Amino acid sequence: MLSASDTSQAPVEPKAPHSFDLGAIDKTVDPCVDFYQYACGNWRKDNPIPADQSRWGRFNELSERNRYLLYVDLKKAADAPKTPLQRKYGDFFAACMDTGLADKLGDKPVQPLLARIDAIKDKKDIAAVVAYLGSRTPTSIFFGFGVEQDQKDSTKQIEGIRQGGLTLPDRDYYLQDDPHMLAIRAKYHDYIAAVLKLTGESEDQAKADADHVLEIETALAKGATPRRDLRDPERRYHIMTLAELDGLEPNFEWSVYFAGIDAPKVEDLNVGQPGFFKAENQALADQSLDALKAYLKFHTLNGVAPWLSQPFQDASFDFFQKTLQGQAEQTARWKRCTAVTDRALGEAVGQDWVKENFPPQAKQNMEQLVAALKTALGQDIQSLPWMSDDTKKQAEQKLADFRQKIGYPDKWRDYSKFEVTRTNFVEDLDHSAAFQFDYELNKVGKPVDEKEWGMTPPTVNAYYDPPMNDINFPAGILQPPFYDFSKDPAVNFGGIGVVIGHEMTHGFDDEGSKYDGQGNVKPWWTDTDRAAFQKRLDCEIDEYGGFQPVPGVHIDGKLTLGENTADNGGIRIAWQALLATLAQQGKSVDDKIDGYTEAQRYFIGFAQVWCENRTEQVSRVAAKTDPHSPGMFRANGTVRNFDEFGKAFGCHVGQPMMPENACRVW
Ligand SMILES: [Zn+2]
Repeated sequence: MLSASDTSQAPVEPKAPHSFDLGAIDKTVDPCVDFYQYACGNWRKDNPIPADQSRWGRFNELSERNRYLLYVDLKKAADAPKTPLQRKYGDFFAACMDTGLADKLGDKPVQPLLARIDAIKDKKDIAAVVAYLGSRTPTSIFFGFGVEQDQKDSTKQIEGIRQGGLTLPDRDYYLQDDPHMLAIRAKYHDYIAAVLKLTGESEDQAKADADHVLEIETALAKGATPRRDLRDPERRYHIMTLAELDGLEPNFEWSVYFAGIDAPKVEDLNVGQPGFFKAENQALADQSLDALKAYLKFHTLNGVAPWLSQPFQDASFDFFQKTLQGQAEQTARWKRCTAVTDRALGEAVGQDWVKENFPPQAKQNMEQLVAALKTALGQDIQSLPWMSDDTKKQAEQKLADFRQKIGYPDKWRDYSKFEVTRTNFVEDLDHSAAFQFDYELNKVGKPVDEKEWGMTPPTVNAYYDPPMNDINFPAGILQPPFYDFSKDPAVNFGGIGVVIGHEMTHGFDDEGSKYDGQGNVKPWWTDTDRAAFQKRLDCEIDEYGGFQPVPGVHIDGKLTLGENTADNGGIRIAWQALLATLAQQGKSVDDKIDGYTEAQRYFIGFAQVWCENRTEQVSRVAAKTDPHSPGMFRANGTVRNFDEFGKAFGCHVGQPMMPENACRVW
């Protein structure tokens, strides 16, 4: 049984990961030929993908540990809460863990919604139902709605709608006709029919409805802008009045929709991709009311299927995890419930988590590191031979305008309006969606909250936000293998140092470089410099586009351009910051520890952050959807462009890790 492991996977505390793992190194490999395999070979051999995962890397080791520590807090709060906030997240978690109740209820929790869809008598009434589902439940339907900073005036918060409404990972899954995609679409068709049958539809009806769902989503996919093109802010920004939107998509009752979500009256809004809404308009005309109702029903069910009774869970797992990602077994319930509680109440449970897991000293050390990296990036900008003084001045201004957030919010989010019951988890998910929706909607017309976080404290990640022009490092990533102050500076600069440099470089990648220091899309380059910059970007597009994670499957050089640029800039400026730090301490990159020079330890520490194994399915999905290159190419693609690597390992020009035509943007 696919989910039999739900009960057998009892929580066990994972070992804390450590940085710079000598045992991970495969010394049979020449570092100048395949550095990733050299730094990670033994780790990859010793760490096969666990049955409940579809990829397994150093990132996962740390996030699994953070998740376990979060689980401990949730379990305590569920069993014996000490504060009202603990009662709230404890109840949410306990409701999630109650599989007996979920099995007993079957599809009952969604029946009122399905009845509401059944009752639609006219296409004109669809907008009201879409408004309800989109604002009060976790259903994603037809398009996305959100509140965003105005790209041309980042002090303003405006309403925006954007392309959406698909279930498969990318538009290509609907539009490409190779055997791999055809097989996935067939399985998807089976999944849609299986879910609808579980609500009592006949086999024939469910199959016919699955046809409709696929037809509608395919029509939407055709109208959608390819993911790689969305990196251009202009492809996400089209301010329109409501009258213009009505003209673009007259078949959807927009005024009913905006009244339904209780939106404040506004003159205009951002219609991210007008072409998409045109396609949607056509789909609303072409499809019968019954077909559209099937689409609404399926999306309503799909949004909560992982939390309904076992047959729904199994169907959802079988398609999304097993078929799409190659995962062998269902993830343990306690892990899934911990993750969903973190998503819903992250700044509630995070308050206790950081007290236990994030010492104040870590924040201070991090501030020093960020300052060192900022200095290094400033010097890097100064040293660029291809950039004019005018553009350099602008770039430095943008760097000076950077803000940073480290660890967790100064002010925690107020969850008092979020109602939680211990006895109906689907209702809790609805309340969570509604709470989040209202929270966003409330921002319209208000000043931007510079202190707001886009990630929860235990998250193992970091981000740069172009309209905010800020870099953000949650507490969860400030630990080994990224950050360990018992280790020498080389290892830490190779880990968290490169992460900081990576986020800073995002401010100057293909996308970030279009925003100024105030977070507005505004050209600040001379034309000549922009052309020179583009030439350098093109070099990376070609280089990474040549990498194949699975034979015949190429990385999308344009989709991954920003992340690749950030990796390449990050390793260079963290290196400069390391040199400055070692000089201050009277040390050099040639000093040896455990048989490796500081220079070598820097690069090994860097590459080992990316040690990982992936299923072939994950590699295929990621090639279509993930703006990050796989670990192998994040390591090798980066070091081969940086001659200090070749010097550190005694490589010679012409070897794979020291090519003649290396790329350099920053
Ligand atoms: Zn990034």
